[in-house]
Amino acid sequence: MDTADVIALEREYVLQTYRRPEFVLVRGEGARVFDGEGRVYLDGVSGIAVNALGHRDPGIVATIRDAADGLIHVSNLYHTEPHVLLARSLVERSFADRVFFCNSGTEAVEGALKFARKYARWSFGEPKTRIVAFTGSFHGRTMGALSTTWTEKYRAPFEPLVPGVRFAPFNDPAAAEEAITDDVCAVIVEPVQGEGGVHLATTDFLEHVRAACDRAGALLIFDEVQCGLGRTGHLWAHEAYGVTPDLMTLAKPLAGGLPMGAVLMTQPVADAIGPGDHGSTFAAGPLVCQVAQAVLDRVSAPDFLAAVREKGQHLAARLSALVEASPLAREARGTGLMWGIECDVEAATIVAAGYQQGILVCNAGPHVVRLLPPLTITLAELDELVDRLLAAFEEVESRE
Ligand SMILES: *Cc1c(COP(=O)(O)O)cnc(C)c1O
Repeated sequence: MDTADVIALEREYVLQTYRRPEFVLVRGEGARVFDGEGRVYLDGVSGIAVNALGHRDPGIVATIRDAADGLIHVSNLYHTEPHVLLARSLVERSFADRVFFCNSGTEAVEGALKFARKYARWSFGEPKTRIVAFTGSFHGRTMGALSTTWTEKYRAPFEPLVPGVRFAPFNDPAAAEEAITDDVCAVIVEPVQGEGGVHLATTDFLEHVRAACDRAGALLIFDEVQCGLGRTGHLWAHEAYGVTPDLMTLAKPLAGGLPMGAVLMTQPVADAIGPGDHGSTFAAGPLVCQVAQAVLDRVSAPDFLAAVREKGQHLAARLSALVEASPLAREARGTGLMWGIECDVEAATIVAAGYQQGILVCNAGPHVVRLLPPLTITLAELDELVDRLLAAFEEVESRE
């Protein structure tokens, strides 16, 4: 099929929840993807922080091949070895004592919110059902997770959502303390906000949130679906803050491009949950667990994480130079390989100009261009990405 045929079928048959550009991706290799007309794009999105090891990683490809030849799926009615090995690896490398697996980020958030509700009911008995989330947050699209997602236009058409969610201003320690009252069962926060425009929490803020949760008997949930698993140059984004949650949600890069989510939690939370309380047909299949094991082993290696930090510092310097050079770029914010550039034009304009320059970048809200390259990108490829991004800015500037 040629490009026009694919686009025509998408227009005719696919529910129109996304606006996609006018090319069709057919192949990937490392930090590059190729379209059906032979054009090459340097990938600054990684499938929204999913393809952390880039495209066609030999280790991931071999793991999928081998695992597919064994058991693909048996359901959670039965034991399998890859399931327990992966759970042990996640526990050994984190604050957590127990893991629940699911299939996406929004499901991980649903699970975490349900576990917090059950824990509060089981521990306190009294009505303690309120949830605190923050301005700028994104936690997913299903009803529960959506209730904690800040963006009004995502929520409004689907109301009524889950009641009892209170939003407090992100990075305002005093307001967070005020919001975390005794009737709160859970507080959910991204240590680095992704979709909301790449905003880093301050250490002071997270410390105050942690202390307020402890005073109120509320559980602290860190949503590391986007910022976790090495993206910031630490295995967990919260390591840089020295603040530890009670639960953590993971998904995007966890299974190398296959769908998988997880909720990590401490033993006291796990003690509140028993057989039948939650479940999933697909979750933690032996194939997806083996792929996730391969990803986790790679991204948690100290030299891999050190390389991400080094690339992050390089990217930081290059992006601050881009902001100096481009009248339309206001500020670059980020850490590791997770960056946002605040623009004076619609981010979509820069994203589209990027396609012409042979790069994939995406937006995070209307005015922020976001970069989430594969963690395996080289310094030379990062330079190329920024050079082309600068050219995209210049092209848009020349139109003004
Ligand atoms: C993407 C994202 C989600 C939702 O994940 P899905 O897999 O798309 O459901 C939740 N939280 C954060 C922080 C995310 O970035």
